[in-house]
Order: sequence, then structure tokens, then C-alpha cells
Amino acid sequence: MGYAYDDQNIFARILRGEIPNTTVLETEHSLAFRDLYPQAPTHVLVIPKGAYISFDHFAAEAPDTEIVDFVRAVGEVCRREGVTLTAGEGFRMISNAGGHGVQEVPHLHVHILGGRPLGRMLAKAD
Ligand code: AMP
Repeated sequence: MGYAYDDQNIFARILRGEIPNTTVLETEHSLAFRDLYPQAPTHVLVIPKGAYISFDHFAAEAPDTEIVDFVRAVGEVCRREGVTLTAGEGFRMISNAGGHGVQEVPHLHVHILGGRPLGRMLAKAD
């Protein structure tokens, strides 16, 4: 079974300019914007402009140019937010996928969180 992308998801609508966002960085193939409900002083979402649901979808089907652009965009956001190991105190990247990953928006996004100690990676499972 292939990946079935829903082009009505909220990040697709952001990419089409139908709803606003607070942009941190835009590149040829990627967009980074602030999470509407930040969970840390830095909470930025980085998304590819292409129609990919999840990281596994992106890794399987995106051209190398889009993958390189996306990875570089993540690094540049970290630099601009001052959370790199050269200029800051570090960060966490999270990319939720599917039901077990508790993904709310079915367009690939990486959360970049930082600006405070973030605690352990996972809370205990329910
Ligand atoms: P996930 O659970 O990984 O799919 O995360 C989706 C994230 O998108 C959540 O952290 C939401 O706060 C965030 N979010 C939802 N709608 C918007 C929006 N319009 N602009 C920015 N962030 C949003």
C-alpha cells in the first residue's frame, strides 16, 4: 500500500498561503515556522514543501535535492534560534509519525525544541 497524502491538512494549507504562519526560514524546498502552541522557548516546525506524510515517506520518495535542502534548513533554524552546540545549549528534534507516534498533522514536520532543559526524552508509557 502506498502513502496517501491528504492535501487538506493544515500544513498543506499553510504552504498554499491559505492560513498564516510565523516564518523563521524559507528555502527552495522547505519552510520553518513557529509552533502555534510552543512547548519550549524555541519551538519551530520544519516542513518540506513537497507532499510527504512522514519521515519514512520523505526518505523513500523525495529527491536528494529536497532531502539535502530539508536537512540544511533544520541546521540553519538551529543556528538562527541559537541552540546549536557551537553557540547554545542544545536542542531536541522530534518527528511524530502515525498512530503510535501520535502525529496530529499528516504532513512531515520536525519539531525543534530548545531554550530550556527539556527533561528525559519520553514520559513513561500509559
Ligand atoms: P504533531 O503532533 O507532531 O503532528 O504536531 C503538530 C504540531 O502542529 C503541534 O505541536 C501543534 O501545536 C502545531 N500546530 C497545529 N496547527 C498549527 C498552526 N496553524 N501553526 C503552527 N503550528 C500548528
